[in-house]
Amino acid sequence: MTYKRKKYHHGDTHLKKGWRTRRRAKDLDQIDEDLKDENVKNLLNQEVDLEKPGAAQYYCIHCARYFINDTALQDHLSTKVHKRRLKALEQEPYSIEESERAAGKGSYISPQKRKIETITRDSFKMDTESELLPQAKMAKTDV
Ligand SMILES: [Zn+2]
Repeated sequence: MTYKRKKYHHGDTHLKKGWRTRRRAKDLDQIDEDLKDENVKNLLNQEVDLEKPGAAQYYCIHCARYFINDTALQDHLSTKVHKRRLKALEQEPYSIEESERAAGKGSYISPQKRKIETITRDSFKMDTESELLPQAKMAKTDV
């Protein structure tokens, strides 16, 4: 006699996975917050954290991801995922204020398109650096 047990329940772990804190990626509006100068500085200069990949020293702000070394980070910066993310961040996050404007309260101003460029430790000028080089600081303000 054959005994076949039909599988009716497929489980929902694959659905829950995305919401587990460890795998949970930041939302775009949170990343938008991270892109502010003072936050960028902190994120690019994180303390060595051995719990995190690459001891938290190689971080992509736009994707909120850690990389194990500089090569992995540089590789990531030229990938499709990263470039798509930059595009997504160009549009300012949807705000309540904006939806009110769209609903006819006040004049509607379409969300601003911004130019988002990859921020790395090399491209982001640290304050300490410009303090060490007063000339570089002056040159920066001229532009
Ligand atoms: Zn990225």
